[in-house]
Amino acid sequence: MGFLNFSNKDKQVENDALQQKLETFLNKLSQRADDLFQEVKANAQEIADTDPDLYKRNYYQFKAGIIAQFNAIIQKGSNTFHTQVAPSAGWNQQMILSELYNNWHTKVLSQMTGVFENIQERDLEKQYAEAMAEYEQIREKFHCKQCGAKLKLKKFYFIDTYIQCEFCLTQNNFDPGSKAKGIEMFVYPLASLRCHHLKEVHKAIYQEKGISAGLPSFERYAKSLIQEMDNILPGLEQHHQDFYNRLIHDYKSYGQSW
Ligand SMILES: [Zn+2]
Repeated sequence: MGFLNFSNKDKQVENDALQQKLETFLNKLSQRADDLFQEVKANAQEIADTDPDLYKRNYYQFKAGIIAQFNAIIQKGSNTFHTQVAPSAGWNQQMILSELYNNWHTKVLSQMTGVFENIQERDLEKQYAEAMAEYEQIREKFHCKQCGAKLKLKKFYFIDTYIQCEFCLTQNNFDPGSKAKGIEMFVYPLASLRCHHLKEVHKAIYQEKGISAGLPSFERYAKSLIQEMDNILPGLEQHHQDFYNRLIHDYKSYGQSW
């Protein structure tokens, strides 16, 4: 059955029906584009971060697949409009139908071009190593502004902190540098990346056997996640432990979500 299915009704009724049919058709396609857009927004960053492949091939494959799906939606709308709708439209109707189609086209196109906009294709391990190297350099050069003694840091500081000189008791401001200050932002993504295999193991058990049977593997994953978070950013062990408790609590209450 074709897109058009009119009998010999009066022209105005036909025109209205054509417009309504186009609207319904484009709305359906928009709905698919919106769903796709939401799905990417919800998952793409994690897919990029947890791709264990050095060249991020899994992530690029995912990206190419999404772009292809957007393209297919645009093609479908475009073909239908140009081959079935536009040729059947009356002269007085062309403008309004074109406007409907153009607005739709612009919207889906901007979804396609913008959907990966804020996704960072970052190399977390490399960023972390750079931040730590910068931190080490700053820590090495940290001396008392009053007496010049080398100041020791007892733990990792990722924010500006006053450190007292043990010799002259002067308070010195320790500035860990902009990269180290950003470490907190990728503690969780980097830890997830390192524990990706355990998450996959858990995911398989969970999907096959459900929440209760999946609990031990989830605990194993969450423990190693916390361990990695402690390694990446030491000094926040209590904070990370609280995070662990919340993960387990949420898992028991709601199950796993991906
Ligand atoms: Zn001093």
